[in-house]
Amino acid sequence: MRLYSVTCGAEDREIKKQESIVPKLTTAEQMNQLEAASHDFPTRLKERGMAQLKPLSLKTFQINVGKVCNQACHHCHVDASPIRTESMDRATIDKCLAVIAEVPDIEVVDITGGAPELNPHFRYLVEQSRALGKHVIDRCNLTVLEEPGQSDLGVFLARNQVEIIASLPHFAQSRTDAQRGRGVHTKSIRGLQFLNSLGYGDRLPLHLVYNPTGLFLSAPQQQLEREFKESLARRYGISFHNLYCINNMPISRFLDALLRSEKFHEFMDLLVNAFNPATIEGLMCRHQISVGYDGRLYDCDFNQMLELPAAIGHIDDFNYTAIQRREIALANHCFGCTAGAGSSCGGEIA
Ligand code: SF4
Ligand code: SF4
Repeated sequence: MRLYSVTCGAEDREIKKQESIVPKLTTAEQMNQLEAASHDFPTRLKERGMAQLKPLSLKTFQINVGKVCNQACHHCHVDASPIRTESMDRATIDKCLAVIAEVPDIEVVDITGGAPELNPHFRYLVEQSRALGKHVIDRCNLTVLEEPGQSDLGVFLARNQVEIIASLPHFAQSRTDAQRGRGVHTKSIRGLQFLNSLGYGDRLPLHLVYNPTGLFLSAPQQQLEREFKESLARRYGISFHNLYCINNMPISRFLDALLRSEKFHEFMDLLVNAFNPATIEGLMCRHQISVGYDGRLYDCDFNQMLELPAAIGHIDDFNYTAIQRREIALANHCFGCTAGAGSSCGGEIA
């Protein structure tokens, strides 16, 4: 059975129908499943002499502004879709901005979702963050550029010199559409061509994110980047700066799919066997904080989706010293970040 298929606009009804017949795993159920993996991540770290994992910096302030998305991709770790309603309100965004203004260590405001641009306060957050002198990243799914009311989105992002990190699972249409929905590749290509026309991929930073479309780890980033650049330039005249390769994480919708296909243990063994200690220093949780749509704070977007721990605090009572002294919450999904060359919001780690 397909869990989710095509994803946008008029097909909301199809998604609703599918969601109604697909039980969603609670975070507690996900944690129970993850604990059944053959190896334990905290134990693996202890074997390497690391009883705890501590933050090293707070360079990046990542804000997940909500679960609303115009797509509903098979692998989505946020469980985002057009029928989700969770969205960060203006008051919470203002509290985030107050923290960003107060903490000079924060250099980057990394805005994610869902499709973050669909949050009604997205542009306010971008403009205010830029006014504070911060570098802003928009994690863009590309198809959102064609959503109603977003025709000026690209121009807005360019005017504010926002770095765009755009998802494109593969340059091949069949592989992208299989993961993200029928027609997504065509829209994504149009989106990239439009961004190129605004200077993205040249004077403005445009990076693509690749994630495997099967039960395997990514090929080396440099090699895939060459293939993406050559193929997208030759077929569509598209240019971009870097390709970031990330592993699929065994949580949320992807975990559900693994369990239903009885591939969970096979995939976890793949991650465990590819454990690479050289990734530990650069794990993204050691250099950032992640804020949920409701203002709760987490080590990373993955821990946020697992509500791990229940919260390390709330934006209401942000305490820089406590945040930097915290112990990062680890569980077996962390094997997804340490497999192979590692995996983070910025691609390979080691
Ligand atoms: S993977 Fe990205 S584009 Fe796809 S449903 Fe999730 S948030 Fe939306
Ligand atoms: S999932 Fe990755 S980034 Fe998050 S806490 Fe685990 S190792 Fe760190």
